[in-house]
Order: sequence, then structure tokens, then C-alpha cells
Amino acid sequence: MNFVFPPPATASVAVAGEPARFPVRRIFCVGRNYAAHAREMGKDPEREAPFFFTKPADAIVGDGETVAYPPLTSNFHFEGELVVAIGKAGSDIANDDALAHVYGYAVGNDLTRRDLQLEARDKGRPWDWGKAFDRSAVCGPIHRVGEIGHIGKGFIRLAVNGERKQDADVADLIWSVTEIISILSRSVRIEPGDLVFTGTPAGVGALVPGDVCVVEIEGLGSLTTIIGVRKPA
Ligand code: MN
Repeated sequence: MNFVFPPPATASVAVAGEPARFPVRRIFCVGRNYAAHAREMGKDPEREAPFFFTKPADAIVGDGETVAYPPLTSNFHFEGELVVAIGKAGSDIANDDALAHVYGYAVGNDLTRRDLQLEARDKGRPWDWGKAFDRSAVCGPIHRVGEIGHIGKGFIRLAVNGERKQDADVADLIWSVTEIISILSRSVRIEPGDLVFTGTPAGVGALVPGDVCVVEIEGLGSLTTIIGVRKPA
């Protein structure tokens, strides 16, 4: 096939213990999936079904990379999250079958322009400018299910410059990985290469240039991001 210019390289994530990389197809994110975080965002967690937003595949950033402070914001937030990597396609997936679609798990950081997100929320506008900007989807190496099994519990922690900001347990997800996959697959057909950021626990806060942000999840290692100086889009 001919293209009028060279197509961009496929976005991808490292796979632990494997030289080949995981090609990223789409990035889905779950909103407000830990009760304490829903409360800190001013919402009642008990009454809300899970909802999703997306980021472009090429927003992906790997471990140890610098992310320039993004444009248009003065309240740039971290959100430490468990990421599920999908390895098998499916739609209308039953809970009992959901985990068979998981390729592996990774540590993630759903970087957020909180001021833009909240303004959009309050005006009933899309979240894209708050969530789906360049280099907003930080994801560490994917650990294959065949190597580590499934992640249903274990600490999830985030520190900025060594100071603990988030400290929770993956078992406290309102909607489990199983339920997220099942519910997502009723809206869209999931495909190999899809990533699902499963939501962040309480304690979200701001980053500034020079910060070093580290997310850790039990069994998945750590994910480091350095915040660089502000750059134009
Ligand atoms: Mn999030």
C-alpha cells in the first residue's frame, strides 16, 4: 500500500522479560473507580456505574521518561493506576470469561490537566482536553499473565520527590478488572493491543517542573516520570 507520507510508528509498551514490544491499539480509562477518590472529586461512589474516557494511543510514555509540563494548565495532576493490557478480542464478554482476555498488567500514571477536566465536567463538555493530551498516558513494562498471574490485590502507591501521596490497595477497586472488561466489551469490541487504565485511588495532586513521580504496584515494580519545563504544544 502507498501512503502520501510515511505513516507514524506504532505506539508501543515494553514487555518485561521479552524483547518484542506490545503494540498499543487504544487506551481506555475508567473514571472514579476507588470510593475515596470519587469522594475527593465531590461525587458519591455508591450510585454510579463505571464510565470510560479515552486517550490517543500515541499519548503513551514509558518508564523513566521526562514529560514536559503541558500547555494550557496550571493544575497538572498525577493519577497512579493499575493498567490492564488486552491480548484477545471479544465483545459481550461474561464475567467468568473476562480474565482470559488479559495479556498482562502494568503500572500506569493517568496524567491529567485537572483544571481543564473540571471546567469541562462542570460545563457538560468532553473531557478530552483535560485527559487526552500529548504524553498523558504513562505506562511501565507489561508483565505477562503467564509469568505473574492476575492482579486482584496488593498495594498501589505513588510518591512525588520521595513523599508518599497515594497509598491504597488494588482490592479496593469499585469495579474489578473482571467487571471492567465485561462492561467495556458491551460498548465496544475489545482488541489485542488495547490498554485499560483502571482508575486512581485517593490522594491525587499537582506536579510541577522538576518533580520526580514514582508509582508502585505490588508485583509489577515501579514507574518513574520526570516532569520537565513547560513547552508549547
Ligand atoms: Mn484516572
